Amino acid sequence: MVAEALKNEVKERCGELNIPMVGFASTDRWKNPPSELPNHFDEWIPLDFWPQSIYPETETVIVIGLPIQIPILDTAPSIYYHELYKTVNILLDIKAYEIASWLTQKGYPSIYLPRDGYGDITVLLDNPLAFFSHRHAAFLAGLGSFGLNNVILTSEYGPRVRFTSIFTSARMESDELKTPDLCTRCFKCANHCPVDAIPTSGDFPPPMDKRTCALRSQKLRSEYRSPCGICIKVCPVGNDREIFNRKDTSIYSDKNNSNMIRKGWYHVKEYGSKK
Ligand code: SF4
Ligand code: SF4
Repeated sequence: MVAEALKNEVKERCGELNIPMVGFASTDRWKNPPSELPNHFDEWIPLDFWPQSIYPETETVIVIGLPIQIPILDTAPSIYYHELYKTVNILLDIKAYEIASWLTQKGYPSIYLPRDGYGDITVLLDNPLAFFSHRHAAFLAGLGSFGLNNVILTSEYGPRVRFTSIFTSARMESDELKTPDLCTRCFKCANHCPVDAIPTSGDFPPPMDKRTCALRSQKLRSEYRSPCGICIKVCPVGNDREIFNRKDTSIYSDKNNSNMIRKGWYHVKEYGSKK
């Protein structure tokens, strides 16, 4: 089957699986990063983290993304967001596994990757990296640009989308890199971070204080309300803000308890987790 027809079939399959975001990146993009990328890095992805180093037969990385619904994220940290995060992660794993199996059956051996890939938050305190970065894969597949908060920003959902990847031996053309740098440098993510883990100066995207962020996550986990989610909920980027009527991000600073939206958050936070 010609590469273009197969790529169209993968996109159709993603449509059937209700996956709104899909991108394609040839492994060559890890080896020879294109000059038109929206962000540039002083240090490129180390060789051991390339898809072809993990599964040498890989020709193309397919990246899929599922959105996080803003009104639920708005309650974060909470048991409600905790459950949504788990659900989206499980769905991503299942859908990626299905796509990999379907491609394998068609004669193109393929493997899925888990959206996370760490046993416990304590592991991240010592070594805050996964064996593969879906954020960089999404970036190389043209799905978005890096934000100050080190998360991929997309025009559709801002940073409120979770990604995973499929490594396939099928050759398919990479998607166009037409995404601009979407981060407005508004610093809302950094200013709302309760532990100051996001630097506001220096290189871009800035190296975050991953250990401090992981320590907060560990504390929230002991209270049954991880992950934190604050830096992605306050980000003004994304058409989802319009869809959910959340264009006005001052709701995150305005402590007026009579605000109906905030009342809902406080109610949710009262139940199912420790405060
Ligand atoms: S997840 Fe929370 S602690 Fe970590 S950087 Fe974002 S706001 Fe800060
Ligand atoms: S909140 Fe502002 S600075 Fe932070 S990632 Fe979003 S656009 Fe960039």
